[in-house]
Amino acid sequence: ISPAGSLVHALRRVVAETPDSDFLAYFDGRLTYRDVDELSDSVAGHLAVRGLERGDRVAVLLQNSPHFVLAVLGAWKAGAVVVPVNPMYKSGEVAHVLRDGEVAALICSDRAWESYLRETAADSPVRIALTGCERDFQTRDDARVLTFERLPQAPDADDLVTVARAGNKAPADRTPGPSDIALISYTSGTSGTPKGATNTHGNIMYNAERQRTGLGLPEQPVYFAMAPLFHITGMVCQFGACLTSGGTLVLAYRFEAGTVLDAFTEHAPHYTVGPSTAFMALAAHPSVTRDHFSSFRVISSGGAPLPPALVEKFRAGFGPYIRNGYGLTECTAPCASVPPGLEAPVDPASGTLAVGLPGPDTVVRIVDDNGEEVPFGEQGEIAVRGPQVVPGYWRRADATAETFPGAELRTGDIGFMDEQGWLYVVDRKKDMINASGFKVWPREVEDVLYTHPAVREAAVVGVPDGYRGETVKAYISLRPDAETDPDALAAYCKERLAAYKYPRQVEILPDLPKTASGKILRRELRSRTQDN
Ligand code: ATP
Repeated sequence: ISPAGSLVHALRRVVAETPDSDFLAYFDGRLTYRDVDELSDSVAGHLAVRGLERGDRVAVLLQNSPHFVLAVLGAWKAGAVVVPVNPMYKSGEVAHVLRDGEVAALICSDRAWESYLRETAADSPVRIALTGCERDFQTRDDARVLTFERLPQAPDADDLVTVARAGNKAPADRTPGPSDIALISYTSGTSGTPKGATNTHGNIMYNAERQRTGLGLPEQPVYFAMAPLFHITGMVCQFGACLTSGGTLVLAYRFEAGTVLDAFTEHAPHYTVGPSTAFMALAAHPSVTRDHFSSFRVISSGGAPLPPALVEKFRAGFGPYIRNGYGLTECTAPCASVPPGLEAPVDPASGTLAVGLPGPDTVVRIVDDNGEEVPFGEQGEIAVRGPQVVPGYWRRADATAETFPGAELRTGDIGFMDEQGWLYVVDRKKDMINASGFKVWPREVEDVLYTHPAVREAAVVGVPDGYRGETVKAYISLRPDAETDPDALAAYCKERLAAYKYPRQVEILPDLPKTASGKILRRELRSRTQDN
């Protein structure tokens, strides 16, 4: 794989070859590659006329809609660095990103602008605002009006759709190169204040190309964007990989299981990737059938632990084998994945499902606290070196030096590797529970809970305990109509796990707290315990 240029180059290549093929499908709306090229040119031209300079930051706060794609490509064509922001962020979180990223332009929905962003932006470096007619919906009928109709324009912001249709030309000399920063991706903050990883165009192109070439998909494949595009997995494995292959990207605003299943039926996608919680939600939906998955060639899970029980349940119930993949924002999505045609082994001693094999040109080492490699089978911190690893964090020399010693990414994840090179992730180093001096890894306990037929979602955390220091607590949400109780779940684990590992406390909640990218927030569950 020799990534060249950027996704802007990839777009121009597809426009030169197949300009009239569909790039974006959004409910009843479609945009061809030529449309997207022209509309994003116009966004770029507008930003440049408004004074945006090469290297300036543009924050994009949008759901999975055509507006997102036009905003990102427009910003890149104007030579800018994109700062994708989680649309679920509250005002204080956005304010942090706007200040930390010293953001010059903000592109968001009318609704978010009106409800809080106008005020947030007023107190920030932002000097250009574009707002688009993106709003919340529940049904297809709501969505029908979205594609390109305009809501009343927000005062003191330009309208994204009007700008996109104005026919402006992108500045000719600002096309980014592979070593330019494409994104400042703020990590989702499951483990603290978000830091901005600086993904270069080269990082993105490498992983997008790998996703394109490694999956055995047909020519011009149909990708379904299940992961949010603002998150690195969605950006690279869906948007990037689709664009480099000249395929069609099906967008459905945000994850809602019923809407997603309808889109599967309507668009017959070949590929999707999402967090394991999305597959749990699809599997629990009352109308789901095997037919919904009949068009898929590959389904991947990434960005969060994948319980082996889910893989088996999914295959037995619906057909597809869910391919695991492991990555971080700091390595621009995956650095190890299960190649199509292979199945990930389960480590016989621990029951852990392998996350995959490291990609080509990627070196994954398991290291001790001194950075020395440990033998096969032994646990240590996962360290990654390769063309997808970012050069560092935005304006954080201290954190960059600590996390990337000698340009090698120290992931903060504990794992091990077997003699065949399969990588296994045990858990996050900082999530380890210390129960009377015994190490308990939450994921191992969660994997057991997921084998219980009543369990929909499970998260295990350490809670303070006067006797043991810490003890194991499980938070559970149940499948619809399932009947069980906390004692029964604790007893189920006790039969299957060593005495110090089984959860002595079990609490059932209607739903577990998650990030917008679908990860269960153990941090929030831990603080819930402390608040009580
Ligand atoms: P923050 O860094 O602020 O905590 P975050 O870690 O959620 O945010 P991401 O970069 O999206 O940000 O997440 C990467 C993490 O997700 C990895 O470090 C790892 O702990 C976990 N992860 C990703 N893929 C897998 C997988 N296949 N199996 C287990 N864990 C995974």
